Amino acid sequence: MSENSAPVLVTGGAGYIGSHTVRLLASQGRKIVVLDNLVFGHEGAVVDPEVELVVGDVGDQELLRSLFQKHRFGAVVHFAAYAYVGESVTNPLKYYQNNTAEPIKLLQVMQEFGCRVFVFSSTCATYGVPDRLPITEANTQNPINPYGRSKLMVEWVLRDCDTAWGLKSACLRYFNASGSSPDGRIGEDHDPETHLIPRVMMAVTGEIDSIEVFGTDYDTPDGTCIRDYIHVEDLADAHARALDHLAAGGDSVRCNLGTGVGVSVKEIIGAVEEVTGKTVPVKYGPRREGDPASLVADPALAKELLGWEASRKDVRQMVDSAWKWMSGPLNGRYPKNQSGS
Ligand code: UDP
Repeated sequence: MSENSAPVLVTGGAGYIGSHTVRLLASQGRKIVVLDNLVFGHEGAVVDPEVELVVGDVGDQELLRSLFQKHRFGAVVHFAAYAYVGESVTNPLKYYQNNTAEPIKLLQVMQEFGCRVFVFSSTCATYGVPDRLPITEANTQNPINPYGRSKLMVEWVLRDCDTAWGLKSACLRYFNASGSSPDGRIGEDHDPETHLIPRVMMAVTGEIDSIEVFGTDYDTPDGTCIRDYIHVEDLADAHARALDHLAAGGDSVRCNLGTGVGVSVKEIIGAVEEVTGKTVPVKYGPRREGDPASLVADPALAKELLGWEASRKDVRQMVDSAWKWMSGPLNGRYPKNQSGS
């Protein structure tokens, strides 16, 4: 990172992946401003006193202009998005508005101010049901729900902006984010929580009666779905590298962020039992609609282009890290926000 790098605007920096990235970027000496409307974000997740938290919407161009005027950002890292797949099916316009239309408004202001570096939270959901495994960037992107499409459309917009006005972007396609910061100060706190690892832990702590396994008849070795669980701090590291790559004049990149290791639902439950020393109450249920049997990344391109590789590949490390947060002083829940929604 260059010594005098310009401030970075991080949208959604009070969310799960955003807050871990903000902490890393700030620890590298970068000046960070977080823009978050706190609909899903947490004031308590922005822990560094030198990081300014602005409560507002990504699509509020008046606010954006005042922020760009004041800080002259050299780059934007854009996390702010909705990410409930089921809700995206029942309320698609909410997703296209928030995940597609709002970032376009942000890009318009970036163009006005000549800011040409954009790091984008994309997702393996842009691939849909993979045409081959492991998933490389050459796989067909054919998302099967509005959430995936709302993200893929932004990838297309970013390509066109590169051609038209030289916007350099990194589309980082996350697999399954997991874990927390080693000091247990920040972690995953969604409401409602739908993700597997936190829910298995909620079954351990008694917050829910049991974990329901969605489907045991998949064409996988133990019949349950396989995913690629990637530690949130490894994701954060990839964003820092993407910023450096683009700031140094590198070309736009689109790459997968995963470990390359596939782990089944049953294996996650086993890892939670091992880490917590407790038995997980399990219920076996039907498949959840829209769940591909197996999603595993080939992360080679991120290594080639960004020099990035997951530093943790054993799922017990992710589970151990997630448990530190769940069993830590906050018990996996931030205090209620004082401002915003
Ligand atoms: N899953 C499950 N029970 C739950 C939540 C998730 O069996 O209560 C399964 C889900 O079907 C998927 C995997 O766990 O195969 C990971 O789901 P999650 O929602 O965490 O992430 P996704 O892969 O859907 O983004």
